[in-house]
Amino acid sequence: MQNEEQARLAALDRYDILDTPQEEAFDRITRLIRRIFDVPMSTISLIDAHRQWFKARSGVEACETARGPALCNLALREPRCLVVPDTAADPRFSANPFVLGPPLIRFYAGAPLRTPQGVAIGTLCALDTRPRGFRPDEVETLVDLSHVVMRELELRRVATTDGLTGALSRQAFREACAGALALALRHGHPLACLMLDLDHFKAVNDGYGHPVGDRVLAEVAAACRSRLRGSDAFGRLGGEEFAVLLPQTGAAAALAVAETLRAAIANLHVPIPDGTLRLTASLGVAALDAGADGPDVDGLLASADAALYAAKAAGRNRCAGAPRLSSGAGARRVLKAGLLSFDDGRAGLDCTVRSLSEAGAALNVVDARDVPETFRLSIRDDRFSRRCRIALRRDGHLDVAFV
Ligand code: GH3
Ligand code: MG
Ligand code: MG
Repeated sequence: MQNEEQARLAALDRYDILDTPQEEAFDRITRLIRRIFDVPMSTISLIDAHRQWFKARSGVEACETARGPALCNLALREPRCLVVPDTAADPRFSANPFVLGPPLIRFYAGAPLRTPQGVAIGTLCALDTRPRGFRPDEVETLVDLSHVVMRELELRRVATTDGLTGALSRQAFREACAGALALALRHGHPLACLMLDLDHFKAVNDGYGHPVGDRVLAEVAAACRSRLRGSDAFGRLGGEEFAVLLPQTGAAAALAVAETLRAAIANLHVPIPDGTLRLTASLGVAALDAGADGPDVDGLLASADAALYAAKAAGRNRCAGAPRLSSGAGARRVLKAGLLSFDDGRAGLDCTVRSLSEAGAALNVVDARDVPETFRLSIRDDRFSRRCRIALRRDGHLDVAFV
């Protein structure tokens, strides 16, 4: 059962979809569901370790909810579709907070989103605030549409380049890193990795709209690529976060490349209807020195990421280097369901553990605001339990140090 959940989280991770922006290809499907079934709400829900996150939602306010009470969490286990004609009359759901409170779900139909290997990563659902029936042909239609969603996700997964920026996809970039890292370690060559995140990019989207945000991303990518060597790999790791792999490059040279990219971005003038838009980026650099007994790809990326966040914390629009890498340094990227407990074990909160090292962990929770400064983190699968102190609190993200 626990291994099944571990495999399910790993399958979800391969689609690299959590916390990505809304997209028309998916929004269209939730709109269709509302129209076809004449229901006021529809979602494409992906079930993370601690939450359900909506890739698309129509008629639903929240962009994510806790996993525990989510009806979709139960629908995951259905072979075809979970249909609840009246939640108030069903003892499994009559006391559910999403039935008693907003969004007041009285009718639920959810078809699991299954990978080609049969692993359920989420659901496509139709919701109503009134009880209603769902005919067998309606079940068929919902299941068909769940296949359309999965097909879209699958096509993106196998793509090696990102459609908007032409950069390597996260998966393809990681593969390029793994190959180059193995070569560098075998031959004792230097190698560096650079991570770049645009500063205050939310403000660009909020101020000028998503299409302008997209154009900025494409221009930033083009500006970076034009300043890199053909042998460097350029990838888009997520929304407005990019990474560059620099083979045969030591720490000092990598910092110089980072500085070139930073200046190129700061000098961009992106045309917008009433003038030009300026922006900046922060960069983190991790280098593997010649002869080092180096880390794996996750360790390299985690070090560049830590340097990037140091650059953000130091004021943005700057580059920062990570300490020299060696074997065992850096955090291991993991995906595990964890539990935070505090108030002498009286309060608990589900989390997703994203990385682990000897010294600490990176966690995601639905809401980090009410988590106390110290708590206990348990990972049941690993019989792991450590006391933690918060080092960094950012939206639903917590970096913790073990104490
Ligand atoms: P910070 O300086 O701390 O990085 O601030 P930020 O606003 O950049 O912070 P954050 O990383 O939280 O926000 C990134 C934003 O990027 C959120 C999301 O709306 C936007 N974004 C992510 N992917 C895309 C995309 O493909 N297109 C557009 N237009 N926006 C995107
Ligand atoms: Mg940013
Ligand atoms: Mg970011």
